Amino acid sequence: MKSDLTRRAFVRTAAAGSAALAWLGLRRTPTVAAAAADKPALLGGTRIHTGGWPRWPEWRESWEPEILRVLRSGRWSSSGGGGQVADFEAGWAKLLAARGCVATSSGTTALITAMHVLGVDAGDEVITSPFTFIATYNTILMLKALPVFADTDPATLTMDPASIESRITERTRAIVPVHIYGLPCDMDAINAIAKKHNLAVVEDACQAWLAEYKGRKCGTLGDLGCFSFQNSKHIPSGEGGAITGDRAELLDRCQAFHNCGRASGSFQGSGCFSRGSNFRMQHFQASLLLSQFDKLVQETERRRENAAYLSAGLQEIPGVQPLRLPENSRPVWHLYAFRYDPEQFHGLSRDKFCRAMNAEGIPCGGGYREQYHDGLLDEAIASRGFQRLFPAERLKAYRDSFRELRGNRQVCETTLGMFQTLLLAQRSEMDHILAAVRKIQAHSAALAKQA
Ligand SMILES: *Cc1c(COP(=O)(O)O)cnc(C)c1O
Repeated sequence: MKSDLTRRAFVRTAAAGSAALAWLGLRRTPTVAAAAADKPALLGGTRIHTGGWPRWPEWRESWEPEILRVLRSGRWSSSGGGGQVADFEAGWAKLLAARGCVATSSGTTALITAMHVLGVDAGDEVITSPFTFIATYNTILMLKALPVFADTDPATLTMDPASIESRITERTRAIVPVHIYGLPCDMDAINAIAKKHNLAVVEDACQAWLAEYKGRKCGTLGDLGCFSFQNSKHIPSGEGGAITGDRAELLDRCQAFHNCGRASGSFQGSGCFSRGSNFRMQHFQASLLLSQFDKLVQETERRRENAAYLSAGLQEIPGVQPLRLPENSRPVWHLYAFRYDPEQFHGLSRDKFCRAMNAEGIPCGGGYREQYHDGLLDEAIASRGFQRLFPAERLKAYRDSFRELRGNRQVCETTLGMFQTLLLAQRSEMDHILAAVRKIQAHSAALAKQA
C-alpha cells in the first residue's frame, strides 16, 4: 500500500495541508526511540502510554447558570417557538454560514425530516454510503425506501462518485452522501450527478460539525444537511440534531414536519395540519449546545493539528497510511482513521495490531463492518411492506448487488481508527501513539508468531 506513495506524493495528496507540511520534517525524539527499542507490552515489554485520555463528554460549571434558568422558567418544550432552541438555530446557521437551521430531537429525526420534505416516499430508492453509522440505513428504511449503496473509495472512506450513476434507476429520488468521521465527501462530483439526474442531495453531516469542503461548511453543500448532537459527538447534548439549508421554503417544510405538521412560514400545508411528527428539541438541550460553540471551534482546531501531526508521522512508517482528503477540504476527525497493510507487518492481523496498541495504552479499533451482511436489510426487504412496494426481481438484484461493493469491503477490512478524544490530548501524547505503532512495526514478526 505504501510503496507507491512517496513522501512528495503525500505532500500533494494529504490536503490536511499546511499543518501536515509543517510537521513533516520532524523526527522522533530520543525518549521515543528508546521506547521503540523495548519489547511490545503485549510481549511483556513496558507499556508506552500509562496516563489516561481525555474523557467525553465534558461538563463545565460555567454552563450551570443557563441550564438553571431553563429549569426554573418552566418553559421546557420548544413547541411555543423562541427561547434557547430558536437562539441555537440562529447560532448554528451563523456558524455554518447557512441561511437557516431547524433543531430536531436527533440526527436520525433530522435525516427522516430532510428526506421527507425532499420527496423521498414509499417505494423510492435512495443512494447512500454503506460505510456509515447504521442510522443512515435505518432512516431510509423508515421512509419505506430502499437504501442503495454506492461503493466506498478506500483512499478516502467516503462515497466514490464514479460508482453512483450505474445505481440510478427510475425510482431513485435522492443521494445521501455521508461525511463519515468528519471526512468531507467529494461534493462537487456528487452534486453534478444529482443535478444531471434531477435528484435531491441530503448530506449526512452527523459526524461533520464544522468540516469544510472548498471553503464551505459540510451540511451547506447539498439541498439540506443533517447533524447529530448525541452524547458521543463533538458537540453533545445527550440527544439532539439539526437540519441546515439555504432554501427558506424547504426549511419551512422541515419546521412544519418536525412540529406535528403545524403550518410554518411560507408552508401552510393543507391550511391547518400537514403530515408530520414530533421531532422537537428541548430548551435544555439547546442551552447545552449554545454553551459549547466556542469549545467546538477550539477543539476542532486542536484535533486538526494533532491529526496532521499523526498523519505526517504515520507516513514514515511502513504498512500504515493516512487517508487521502478531497482537494481544499478540512476534516474534523470524529475518528482518526488510517489504513493498515498486514503484509508489511509480517502478516500481523488487524485485530492483533489493535490488541497490541491497546496493550500500549492506546485504544484503537476497526470501525464499521460490512453491515449489509448483518441481516437488517434482509429483514426489511422480506417485510410485507417492502414486498408490496418493490417487484421481487428488484429486491433480488438489490440483495445480489452487495457483492459488488469491493471498495467498501476493503475499507472494512483494512481501516483502523482512534476515537476523537485522543486528538484532544497533548502533542507529547501523539508521540506515544506514533511510538507504539513504530514499536509494533519493529516487533511485528514476533507479534505475528505469538499464539
Ligand atoms: C450519530 C449519527 C447519526 C444519527 O444521529 P443520532 O443523533 O444518534 O440519531 C446518523 N448518521 C451518522 C453518520 C451518525 O454518526
